[in-house]
Amino acid sequence: MNIILLGPPGAGKGTQARKLVDERNMVQLSTGDMLRAARTSGTAMGKMVAAVMDRGDLVTDEIVIGLIREQLESDEGKGGYIFDGFPRTLAQADALGNLLIEMGENLDCVIEMQVDDDALVDRITARATCADCGEVYNDNTKPIPADGKCTNCGSSKIQRRADDNEESLRTRLMAYYKQTSPLIGYYYAKGDLKSVDGLASMDDVAASIAKALG
Ligand code: ADP
Ligand code: ZN
Repeated sequence: MNIILLGPPGAGKGTQARKLVDERNMVQLSTGDMLRAARTSGTAMGKMVAAVMDRGDLVTDEIVIGLIREQLESDEGKGGYIFDGFPRTLAQADALGNLLIEMGENLDCVIEMQVDDDALVDRITARATCADCGEVYNDNTKPIPADGKCTNCGSSKIQRRADDNEESLRTRLMAYYKQTSPLIGYYYAKGDLKSVDGLASMDDVAASIAKALG
């Protein structure tokens, strides 16, 4: 089964993707994580996208489609793919459709995670992530442990993202509404769309997604 998690920044796509990886043995493909990894390892591409990402704008379709293509060609897909943060434009959606056809695969479901904008601002400005394992912390609901060590992997590299500030978030929200939200209509028309309430508790959101996946 191959699915897309669609929703604005802070909707909880990464959190739910990680649950699906654990529970269903699926493979998470997050273009945001791939781009951040390219930055950390200091590749030419990583350097090129850094300023764009920090500002909150979208990286070019060519770059992210290339990243996804590379992963699809190298991975085995096990229990299927979860596309997290990709596609974000209609051109990316078309490219993904073609890549899946080339591989003889289907897109089974697009889950739209609905959340209101005020909640997004609160969530994102309170967010921190473990650089080593991806565990997500939140100042209000799941604070960073007093000893600064990740509860999941013990790493002391719990960090805030450079783009998790109010100004960049505003740009990311604008990019979402202008460039990504048209995908909701696109997948609805194709009959692939299921919407869930992203404001419910983490477990309730997971339950709604499980129900949508059948
Ligand atoms: P969030 O969903 O919280 O905004 P992501 O980790 O998915 O975070 O993405 C972080 C940034 O990486 C985006 O703001 C954008 O600059 C870039 N990015 C990630 N995925 C894509 C994509 N599919 N197309 C273009 N840019 C992307
Ligand atoms: Zn960790």
